[in-house]
Amino acid sequence: MNINVLDTTLRDGEQTPGVSLTSQEKFRIATKLDEIGVNFIEAGSAITSEGERDSIKEISAQGFNAEILSFSRPLNVDIDYCLDCDVDAVNLVVPTSDLHISDKLKISKDELLDLSNNAVDYCKDHGLIVELSAEDASRSDVDFLKSVYVNAINHGADRVCVCDTVGILTPDTSYELFSKLNDIQVPVSCHCHNDFGLAVANTLSAIKGGASEIHTTINGIGERAGNTSFEECVVSIDRLLPDFSTSIKINQIYDVSKLVARLTGVYIQPNKAIVGENAFAHESGIHSDGIIKNSATYEPMTPELVGRTRKFIIGKHMGTHGLNSRLKEIGLEVNEIQLKQICDDIKELADMGKTVTDVDLQVIADNVLEINHEDRIKLDEITIVSGNKVMPTASVKLVIDSEEILNAGVGIGPVDAAINAVKSLDMFKDIELIEYHVDAITGGTDAFIDVIIKLQKADKVVSARGTEADIINASVKAYIAGVNRLLRD
Ligand code: MN
Repeated sequence: MNINVLDTTLRDGEQTPGVSLTSQEKFRIATKLDEIGVNFIEAGSAITSEGERDSIKEISAQGFNAEILSFSRPLNVDIDYCLDCDVDAVNLVVPTSDLHISDKLKISKDELLDLSNNAVDYCKDHGLIVELSAEDASRSDVDFLKSVYVNAINHGADRVCVCDTVGILTPDTSYELFSKLNDIQVPVSCHCHNDFGLAVANTLSAIKGGASEIHTTINGIGERAGNTSFEECVVSIDRLLPDFSTSIKINQIYDVSKLVARLTGVYIQPNKAIVGENAFAHESGIHSDGIIKNSATYEPMTPELVGRTRKFIIGKHMGTHGLNSRLKEIGLEVNEIQLKQICDDIKELADMGKTVTDVDLQVIADNVLEINHEDRIKLDEITIVSGNKVMPTASVKLVIDSEEILNAGVGIGPVDAAINAVKSLDMFKDIELIEYHVDAITGGTDAFIDVIIKLQKADKVVSARGTEADIINASVKAYIAGVNRLLRD
């Protein structure tokens, strides 16, 4: 059975604390959602603002395959704004719990039914598709919930939705609630929140209980702990529920996840299922060895399925098999004795509590293989002016291919100024700093500072480190080490 996906990244997802998207960003996300096969896109809430309406209009006008919805309260003023945006459909949100009806709306249940029925009539009179979402449905009296649905359907509602607004369902209670709605004559959908980390599990149970549509957000962003995560839920349906499927092109999931993370600034935790940095990364020797022989040993799905690639992480749990494939990736062929030596050196570094970066691996391997790379760029001098009344300014003297080059930069802090002084040189134009991480190795203000950065040039990413007593020197050293590595190959 096919399950329709309504994605609400642009409405509920944008309600994530601290997230606000421009029209252009919303349009890019909507385009990607349409491309990947989302059936319904909730593009925003038309009543919110002029800017929000412009962005909904732009998305509606594009002629996407997906149905475009706006959020709406059961009020004509909201519905008029939806009509103004020329959407296909409305997500008409009607509270159904006693708590919401009496404490928030301060009306009676009969008044609520009138409000709901009139709103559905008004939408249908104006040619809108209506999905009636019962807000706080999971804390509502089931008989009353059903009467709201049945009334709405009699007035022409096309679909109804159960909202677990505060995320209190469990897989069992979710299944029970949806099973009780099996006599509803239109498609029933499921909108879950992740307050107890159960949104995806509850959504899967809802499907088993009879829901034929799910609401999701990319990366599970949304109010508080967020909503049902699109990628986790869609891939779970595909892999774990043999009787159900969606129209989503799963191999593009990682792309859309990265796009939304970048545009919202809500980064993905490394251990997040499907899209987290570590979801297809292996460090342990036993696992890496198994994976290389047959990936099914320690992977429930291939990374390619969701548009990713497998990674072997360098670290103390790594075995020689994983290490050898990593070395091959960076273009080094080693014999068994050399491999063993490199492995021992890495474990020694890792035992000191250090993260082993690509540059460390390269240096260790070079030492064992006695390869001497001449670094093209060397730092000769760096001077910083910083304080509470001056714009932090840095001047650097670099030696690049044995030519001395002087440059200066400003920044929001001394580290930023120093890095800017280096990277504003023409030859660094296409190198992007994608991660910057600082650790104080010991406790005091005299601590050694360990800076680990990631640099990207085209599709190549390297990590590099600098360890110094001075945070600025450590940062610049890490940056230059990374650049040298990028320029080497
Ligand atoms: Mn919600």
